[in-house]
Parts: sequence; C-alpha cells; structure tokens
Amino acid sequence: MSEPEIRGWCPGALTPMASADGLVVRLRPPLGCLSPPQARAVAAAAVRFGPGEVELTSRASLQIRGVAEADHAALLAELAAHGLVDPDPETERARAIAIAPFYGEAAEIAGLANSLTEALRAAPLPAKFGATLDTSPAPVLAETAADIRLERAADGRLVLRPDGSATGKPVTAETLPEALAELIDWFLATGGARNGRGRMRKHLAENHALPAGYDVTPAPPAPLPAPGTVAGGQLVVVAFGLLPAETLSALAELAEEIRLTPWRGVFLPGLAALPALPGLLTDPEDPLLRVHACTGRPGCPQALAETRTLARALAPRLTAGQSLHVSGCAKGCAHPGRCGLVLTATPEGFDLARDTSAGAPPLRRALSPAALLSTPDPFGAP
Ligand code: SF4
Repeated sequence: MSEPEIRGWCPGALTPMASADGLVVRLRPPLGCLSPPQARAVAAAAVRFGPGEVELTSRASLQIRGVAEADHAALLAELAAHGLVDPDPETERARAIAIAPFYGEAAEIAGLANSLTEALRAAPLPAKFGATLDTSPAPVLAETAADIRLERAADGRLVLRPDGSATGKPVTAETLPEALAELIDWFLATGGARNGRGRMRKHLAENHALPAGYDVTPAPPAPLPAPGTVAGGQLVVVAFGLLPAETLSALAELAEEIRLTPWRGVFLPGLAALPALPGLLTDPEDPLLRVHACTGRPGCPQALAETRTLARALAPRLTAGQSLHVSGCAKGCAHPGRCGLVLTATPEGFDLARDTSAGAPPLRRALSPAALLSTPDPFGAP
C-alpha cells in the first residue's frame, strides 16, 4: 500500500489548500459561532463559489471546497465583510482552537480564547499545534485532537492540561497567559518542535518531565450527547459533516447563534425544537451517525476510491451499535481513531479490518464496492 502524504499544516481562509476539486477554504468563526447574517453569507458563498454545501470538520471549523483559484479573492471579500477572515495568516493559524459549544457566558470564553490565541501566536510552534477550550463542567472534547487543553476540575477550577498528561495546572483567567507561556517555553526548550513538526502527546510519551504544578486532575469526560434536544438547545449532526447551504440558510432564520461542534454538526442554543431540514440526522438510531467517510474520489488527490456513496449504501447493513469508517487511503482523515469496522481503499480495492484505524493490517483484502454491496454479510469473516 502506498504511504499517505502527511501535510505539515492545516488550511485556512487566507492559506487555502489546493485539492483535486479546487481550493479548500477553511473558516474558524470567532468563538466557533456564526450569527444569522454570517450564516447566510457562508451559505450564499457555498452556492456561488463552492458545491452548494459546507463541510463541518472534526475541529469545529467549516470549509468550502471546490473554490476556483480565480474566485478566491472574491470569496475572501464576501467573508471578510462579515468578520469571518483574520487579518493575517499568523493570526489565522493561531486560532486553531476548538471550542466546546455548550458555553454560557460568551465574554468569559472570549477572554480565554484570546489568551490561547496570543500564546499560540507568540511562539514558533509547529504548524499543526492546536488547543481545545473545553470549560463545560465536564470535558466534552476529549476525543478532539489538540496539544493544549483548557478544562475544569470537578470543583470548577480551570485546569491547563497538556495533551497526553492525565493532570494539569490550575489557572484563572488572570494567570492563564503566564501559565501558557511557561508551558510553551518548556515544550520548545525540551525539543518538542523539530523541523516545524511536533505534538505534545508524542513529546510527553518520550518521558520529558513537565514543569512543577501540573498535578490537578480534570473532571472525567462527559459522554457525547446524542443529536436532538440537549440542555440549552438543539444538537444537530449531518452525515459526513456535509451541511447543505439551504439548510444553513434555514437555520439562520431559526436560531440566534449557530455554534460549530467537532462532532460534524452544530449546536443551536435556546432552540426548543427543530423542523425536518435536508441533511440533518435527527433520529438517534440512524446508522449514518455511526459511519465516517472522508472526501475520497474525486475531491481528494490522494484518494484511491470513492468513499461516501459506498458508506451511505453500507450504512443500513450495520447491526445495532456497529460503526464503520470508509477511508479513501490509509491516512484516515475522517476518523483518526479506532472504529469497529474499517474499509481502507488500496490500489487493488478495499481492505477490511476490525476495531482499529485506517490502514491497519486487514482481515480481508481487495474487496470491490460491488462485491461488498452484493453479499449478504459484507463485514463477515473470509
Ligand atoms: S483519508 Fe481520504 S481525505 Fe484523507 S488523504 Fe486519504 S483519501 Fe484524502
């Protein structure tokens, strides 16, 4: 199997990534939240410059794919008019912060987010270095990739926790900037960043001892809420993170805020109910909630197969509780973690593996989509 290409940076709006179907323009709205006018602007831009849908990512950002290079400046101008473009690429990169959507006081979150952004911007960190701002009573972003996590202890104190450490340092909004500077200085001074790359978890696994004071255990992670009515609003999920522009426009008429989640959906605070809208998965039993599929062909230049049509077709074949990841190559972008069933595209067909991540040694090899769909038990033993 050919090795997937690992890119050392993440796309933004000012620094889009060229893909097989055009530019990928990624937005990180302030506090991970779109106002109704911003949501309408993004929906209109997705229709005018993209495929008529936006992609919600696993880091609570959104992106428009398939943008022609010649349209990039016009798209930026429309987004900038709604406060959705950072002043420079450095600020854009430093705002790689996934924010838990269930926050109450926006001013407090804004202050903490500013401290994180300033700290990430001030240091020569690896391009993919990022943070989570996860200050619900119990963390909900434990599965979201990050190097630095801001969480709460069971007694309500804020805890600054490096990813990979079970414990963190208690901080307040006032002491956070100094603690961040100390942690980042330590990471860099102990060799955490090499050639523009490096992740906190891997660095800690190499037995580098943290500075003193990282001895408070955050509250245990909360289970992920199911889509539908949750405390404070409606939690919405869309299959594969693809949100039709028409649905985003409709949500802008219903909700005062549209907060992006890292679970390929949005949280709509203050909304008691939601009408049926195209693309929304509202049934907690919908098997598509347990299916992951990356862009695949034709959008991704590294893809060895189409993924999402196959994933949709296989979803009804899952038994209760079974989960499926269909990956266009061994990189596994749609679900970096383990999954119950994993189909990884190879030049010869799909490899099937169980309870692992994309690209792991398979149980069955070279399965064609037609063979998978025509057999009564597509995930059975050989
Ligand atoms: S996992 Fe999918 S989206 Fe990621 S590089 Fe491979 S084919 Fe492309």
